[in-house]
Amino acid sequence: MNIPKTDIPRVVIIGGGFAGISLAKRLLKKEIQVVLLDRHNYHTFQPLLYQVSTAGLEPDSIAYPLRKITRNNPRGFFRMVEVTAIDAKNNCICTNIGDLTFNYLVIATGSKTNFFGNKSFEENAMQMKSVPHALNIRSLILENLEQAVITENPEERKALLNFVLAGAGPTGVELSGAIAELRNQILPKDYPDLDAKQMKIHLIEGFKRILPAMSEYSSEKAQKFLKELGVKIHLNTQVKSYDGKVVTTNTDLCLNTSTFIWTAGVTGAPLMGLNVSALIEKANRYKVNVFNQVNGYENIFAIGDIAVMSTEDFPQGHPMVAQPAIQQGNQLAKNFVRLLLGKRMEPFKYNDKGTMATVGRNRAVVDLGKLRFGGFFAWYFWMFVHLWFLVGFRNRAVTFFDWVYNYINYDKGARLIIRPFKKVKKSMGSEEVTR
Ligand SMILES: Cc1cc2nc3c(=O)[nH]c(=O)nc-3n(C[C@H](O)[C@H](O)[C@H](O)COP(=O)(O)OP(=O)(O)OC[C@H]3O[C@@H](n4cnc5c(N)ncnc54)[C@H](O)[C@@H]3O)c2cc1C
Repeated sequence: MNIPKTDIPRVVIIGGGFAGISLAKRLLKKEIQVVLLDRHNYHTFQPLLYQVSTAGLEPDSIAYPLRKITRNNPRGFFRMVEVTAIDAKNNCICTNIGDLTFNYLVIATGSKTNFFGNKSFEENAMQMKSVPHALNIRSLILENLEQAVITENPEERKALLNFVLAGAGPTGVELSGAIAELRNQILPKDYPDLDAKQMKIHLIEGFKRILPAMSEYSSEKAQKFLKELGVKIHLNTQVKSYDGKVVTTNTDLCLNTSTFIWTAGVTGAPLMGLNVSALIEKANRYKVNVFNQVNGYENIFAIGDIAVMSTEDFPQGHPMVAQPAIQQGNQLAKNFVRLLLGKRMEPFKYNDKGTMATVGRNRAVVDLGKLRFGGFFAWYFWMFVHLWFLVGFRNRAVTFFDWVYNYINYDKGARLIIRPFKKVKKSMGSEEVTR
């Protein structure tokens, strides 16, 4: 790995997500060697992935180079590696390019899509957890529209223009709203030979209302917004299978579609090697105490989505969103300093800053403590918060510019099939699907 030996404590952080980078940034100001590891060389601002999927933003504007965090600091190191296991006995981690010892280890590996063991989803559904996933969705949507223009088969065209999403949490709601805007604003201009009315967007939710984690006010308001945009919502409905052509559910709803997007769940992304008691098996996440120490370990910590800290206010752990991850990273940085000074660590206390979701142009819903609001002001508020938390000045500036441009022109400028997702037609006529 080529990390120099040192006399100062070495903290190895696995994962450059919200949790990992907030910890790394603070630790780099201290007399600590910080080794930040990630399989990508960039941080992903996941809340805006849906805008990349729907051509509203370029992928570069929501990704931030992780080397920018460690550069100009002789104690900071970044390595692009896949961490494969932890050897806790020897205070060592194993990666695809070699092993590395640590004094303290912080696991901040986040979460991955949960298909709940359904093989048909794993094989055929689209997911949206990373920039490549978002680009796959963008390509697939655009490729389907291109194909819909040229096919002479009405049934094939119908399936190509049918977009089905499972899971009406913030991701499903935001994505379906954005696809509906593509249909309403872009389709008539770019594809005059297609009837925009033929393009349908279905949002399927197992619960009795959308945005189940938000207030009933926000849920109702968001549902109204989606209906105005023309999204068909199916509540109390569970998707059973998708064979690449047909979505079946537990009701008589059955949809032919070329695009099925699964946004109905995430599960932790743990690593091999720790004791069984460290892991909450059902959630695939590490059990941590109020100092983020992994159950059974003194010098191994977990923060962000991968950690479950059960407290009186949050018996099931904190919500798997950005704020707990950022705040745990910040608190752990303070605790490392205290540890090294021989002081007692301070317990983590979550400051809940509220939840929000946007449903297209001029429409959003916000729950802030007991305050709930929706509509135009909520949309501005949503934009301001997302710009504020977006990592890097350049990303903020580019995103702001794109949003202003899109708003004025009713446009989504990144409608490009740079890297086709599917339909690399082979000479024999068979179809190859690339994922
Ligand atoms: C589509 C989408 C929309 C979202 N919208 C919102 C929102 O609007 N508001 C909100 O608050 N939250 C939102 N979230 C949730 C939020 O993004 C997560 O809660 C947050 O990213 C968790 O931060 P983290 O640091 O724990 O993990 P992550 O940000 O997921 O980072 C984990 C990092 O670890 C790396 N990694 C994992 N395993 C390994 C390994 N073995 N080796 C090397 N590297 C590894 C990954 O590459 C990744 O960079 C959204 C999530 C998604 C997917």
